[in-house]
Amino acid sequence: MPPALDTIVVLDFEATCQRGAPPSPQEVIEFPSVLVSLRERAVLDSFSSFVRPTHHPQLSEFCRALTSIRQEDVDAAPTFPEVLARHQAWLAGHGLHADNFAFVTCGDWDLVRMMPNQCAAAGISVVTLPRMYRRWINIKRVYTDTLRKGRSYGMTSMLRSLKLPLEGTHHRGIDDCGNIARIALALAARGASFELTNRLPAEFYPALPLALRWNDRTVHATLGQRLRAQLLALASDLFQTPMARVTTPDGVEVTDDQQLTELPDGALLQVYEPA
Ligand code: AMP
Ligand code: MG
Ligand code: MG
Repeated sequence: MPPALDTIVVLDFEATCQRGAPPSPQEVIEFPSVLVSLRERAVLDSFSSFVRPTHHPQLSEFCRALTSIRQEDVDAAPTFPEVLARHQAWLAGHGLHADNFAFVTCGDWDLVRMMPNQCAAAGISVVTLPRMYRRWINIKRVYTDTLRKGRSYGMTSMLRSLKLPLEGTHHRGIDDCGNIARIALALAARGASFELTNRLPAEFYPALPLALRWNDRTVHATLGQRLRAQLLALASDLFQTPMARVTTPDGVEVTDDQQLTELPDGALLQVYEPA
């Protein structure tokens, strides 16, 4: 089991919207985060910026009413690439990187949908993002696991059931982050363990240079997509022998594509023929 984390960063995007289906492409209009130390049981810092949408620069009346974000807020704001760079600098300033914290979101939408869509809209390849943006903890999962609830709840009902007041304005990203942070702290106080719950699928990871070992032969190659089936096909091709199994540098059998998403460049993998 992966180690539980003691530092989390809550992330909650607000985005262009209207009644019904969102505009296409949907774009981020607020990019906020709250840094929480679970060990110290405290909020340590926050990051907040509005973002100026470029494909649909005019916010709908519905969007302004939902988020309380004004047209002048986004008009005066930097565009997404600049805010993303500032967000990374803020994380780096706290010494944070993929191995010592994880993002916490309410639901999976922020990082499974909005981040890749926004990157595409801004011409940024998700593959080039630091890997911390490709994995996250869905607070709804922590909530249901910790309190042994059978179904998932929204932010306001989690607050209510934890007897926490909703602070600020719902659907303002920085206020949502603060409320999600307080849910996280309340769950930590009830013994919750914070472990990654989701990752982006294989197509969002960079190609992996690796070494493949079979018996006493080692070859160097590059795995285009981090898919187990593609890895076995590559090994079978390189060794001109059908391969059935592969193990990671720790000797753990690869049974799931997700195990390949975390491998460092140059990893040495052992492959095996069918038994
Ligand atoms: P939230 O974090 O729940 O405030 O929502 C994030 C984004 O999802 C909002 O900025 C909107 O773009 C969209 N959204 C949330 N609720 C609605 C809704 N009821 N109708 C349309 N879009 C919504
Ligand atoms: Mg949200
Ligand atoms: Mg929100």
